[in-house]
Amino acid sequence: MDLDALAFGAHADDVELACGGTLVALATLGHKIGVIVLTRGEMGTRGSSRIRAREFADSARVMGLAAHRMLDMPDGRVEVTWTNKLKIIKALRSHRPKVVFAPYWVDRHPDHEQTSHLVRQAAYLSGLVKVETGQPPFRPHKVIYYASRFELGPSFIVDISGSHGQKMKAVRAYKSQFHAQGRAEAEKDGTLVGRPDFLESIETRDRHYGGHIGTKYGEPFLVREAIKLKDPVEFFGPEYLWARP
Ligand SMILES: [Zn+2]
Repeated sequence: MDLDALAFGAHADDVELACGGTLVALATLGHKIGVIVLTRGEMGTRGSSRIRAREFADSARVMGLAAHRMLDMPDGRVEVTWTNKLKIIKALRSHRPKVVFAPYWVDRHPDHEQTSHLVRQAAYLSGLVKVETGQPPFRPHKVIYYASRFELGPSFIVDISGSHGQKMKAVRAYKSQFHAQGRAEAEKDGTLVGRPDFLESIETRDRHYGGHIGTKYGEPFLVREAIKLKDPVEFFGPEYLWARP
């Protein structure tokens, strides 16, 4: 199925936390949105790959995705190999998304960094006729990077005030990761995501970026290339003013 936007994550829940509000907003506008997760999350401290697959499907329903899929790269060992590039190229050629979302290339989790490199390289290679997969070549218009733990100087911030509630509902679909439990239990397994205040920190971050653009909630994105404009007067019209006069 052809998609308007396709977001790649290393693990189920990465995409929801980082840009779930934007994906929900896009789906609400009528765009066809998909998410592809490279691993099954079997190395996660919490949950199992079976539970995470079910939660991924629940979250996809909440976000109104037109497509969602898990690939089978080994969790904790996502590597930039030709075999893995081909998996991404095949996905791009079968969904033909106009834009692709990928993790920011600087991150504390090596899988996130490798996913960023893999998606960027595959997005280019997918346009080459001589990379043969039995599908016509296809190159997305843009690779857009979302932030996870590290700050990125955003190229733009999407107003997610209207979709933040649905984003948090999608995040909470990952019950094994974020279920509310006592602080003692969370501290025992030592995970950051299991801490009771983790979801609050996501909300705080979204409010922080919303503050940058004068809205309640926002999600930041980075593009590598300068953005080409034909008409800055039109582009910076009333809709995009920081605050309406
Ligand atoms: Zn992750």
